[in-house]
Amino acid sequence: MLEFNNVTKFYGNGPASLDDVSFKINEGEFVSIVGHSGAGKSTILKIILADELPSSGEALFEKQNIAFMRGSEIKKMRRRIGVIFQDFRLLPTKTIYENIAFAMEAIGQSNEEIAADVPHALDLVDLADKFDKFPHEISGGEQQRVAIARAIVNQPDIILADEPTGNLDPISTYEVVQILKKINELGATVILTTHNKGVIDSLEKRVITMDEGKIIKDDPTGKFSL
Ligand code: ADP
Repeated sequence: MLEFNNVTKFYGNGPASLDDVSFKINEGEFVSIVGHSGAGKSTILKIILADELPSSGEALFEKQNIAFMRGSEIKKMRRRIGVIFQDFRLLPTKTIYENIAFAMEAIGQSNEEIAADVPHALDLVDLADKFDKFPHEISGGEQQRVAIARAIVNQPDIILADEPTGNLDPISTYEVVQILKKINELGATVILTTHNKGVIDSLEKRVITMDEGKIIKDDPTGKFSL
């Protein structure tokens, strides 16, 4: 479903942020990308989203070279990808319900579809009772669960989670990881970047370890080893 072949990325004149990176991710996989700050993890996610292009090599989404996609094709691809960030990025003046509904409105879903799907997404993250709260009225862990509900409400094939537990306490971290596992079991491909050894060791899923722009290890049931 996703493939990097010898991808190198330079930003300006600095050293390579990605250096000859190759991997394949199949549909339904749960892959963690680990590495110190600056190792190149976010750059991989940005290239998948077509926010950045490789300087050389190719990044393929379902065998199609992302660098050669037209605007309409990029839009179509992005609709199939749900993204979760470390800092949640909820809209502060909208309620929890409205934050999730907004993601559906943005792609032109009808009011009937929104009314049917938002409660379902909230149920999945166990926040049905908080639908009318504003983000500042709930905890960080709950805000991240709202962000997950927003990422999945349009039923993407892939979830990109960029350090989603970076701002969370251990209990909220555990809950977020359990939800990501559940989403994966329901069929979505999950790509997670993290620094968190506990998260990686509890997952027992594939781990790609990055250092200075290079993949130094790609382990099918990896443990954290930095
Ligand atoms: P990670 O997500 O592992 O922390 P990044 O992919 O964000 O790593 O960054 C990899 C390297 O690329 C770092 O050295 C970073 O400073 C550099 N970098 C990332 N984005 C930019 C940018 N927009 N302009 C210049 N350098 C960047």
